Amino acid sequence: MWKIRGQDHILRQVEPSLKLGQPAHAYLLVGPPHVGKMTLALDLAQAVNCSDPSPAPCGDCTQCSRIAQGQHSDVRVVGIGKGADDGPTRTVIGIGDIKEVLHQVNLKPYEGAFTVIIFDGAEAMSEEAANALLKTLEEPPGQVLFLLLTADEDALLATIRSRCRRLRLLPVPKTQIEHQLASKHGGNSEESERLARLSRGCLGWAITAGEDPQVLEEHDSQLDRLREVCQGGLDQRFAYAGEIANLFSKDRQAAHQVLYLWLRWWRDLLLIKEGAEDYLQNSHRLDDLRSAASGLSTGETVDFIKLLLETLAALDSNASPRLALEILMLRLPGASVRA
Ligand SMILES: [Zn+2]
Repeated sequence: MWKIRGQDHILRQVEPSLKLGQPAHAYLLVGPPHVGKMTLALDLAQAVNCSDPSPAPCGDCTQCSRIAQGQHSDVRVVGIGKGADDGPTRTVIGIGDIKEVLHQVNLKPYEGAFTVIIFDGAEAMSEEAANALLKTLEEPPGQVLFLLLTADEDALLATIRSRCRRLRLLPVPKTQIEHQLASKHGGNSEESERLARLSRGCLGWAITAGEDPQVLEEHDSQLDRLREVCQGGLDQRFAYAGEIANLFSKDRQAAHQVLYLWLRWWRDLLLIKEGAEDYLQNSHRLDDLRSAASGLSTGETVDFIKLLLETLAALDSNASPRLALEILMLRLPGASVRA
């Protein structure tokens, strides 16, 4: 049985070649964080090694069980913080990792039918590492399956991309996530609905968040902070810009998440202005949203959404985070700035 949920379009793509026992040599699994790329990768690793010949892995045989438990000697995951040589703080997949991998793929699989190499966060590969891998992708050994997982395919060398069959994971429909959460945890349907809404189609995120009550609390406290900043004066807004700039220097991903939270809030404000409250992401804060929307024109709301997107793009292209965030805060609409 496939463990991956909500990606039937991909299963339809891969099943015929799995049935023939002839998968592509390399697949590029593309999708946002926590959408299910690793689940799919392990499914594929099981599918090519499973003792049962149907395209879907049985999940029960020795091969499937050992892969699920991370004990299969032919299935290797290479990713940031996962290698032996550079320790947990490294931020690239280096040439040392690729050399180890190439050594392994030149040997016959030891306990299964296929050697499976999973690159988790393949965009973190250094150029030297990518070029070394490229040579092997150009002349792949038999019985080897490469799975490159990435949220940012543009960051990969075009030559690497062109050697892989691309599988794009799509956001899982909200109702399906709700259903999964209910069957996994039972209980509070209101909370499942909210998690499903906030997950933006990423089932893995929703499941992790469902197991950790702090996720929703933290989300709420960030929304409180956003409200304060929107209602506050320039001093407060600049202090906030500094805070997020600091966060950016320590943890880019976390700073991006904060800006995406802003983006979703402002999208909600626009939806309220357009009378489309059914589609809100933060519907549990309807009163706050309505009161904030009442003080804004549609034009102001649209302009600020554009500015948020520009800020995210500027941060990606290495603009000064503090400057970009200060401009954002300066142009944040609100009565107290004009006063
Ligand atoms: Zn099996």
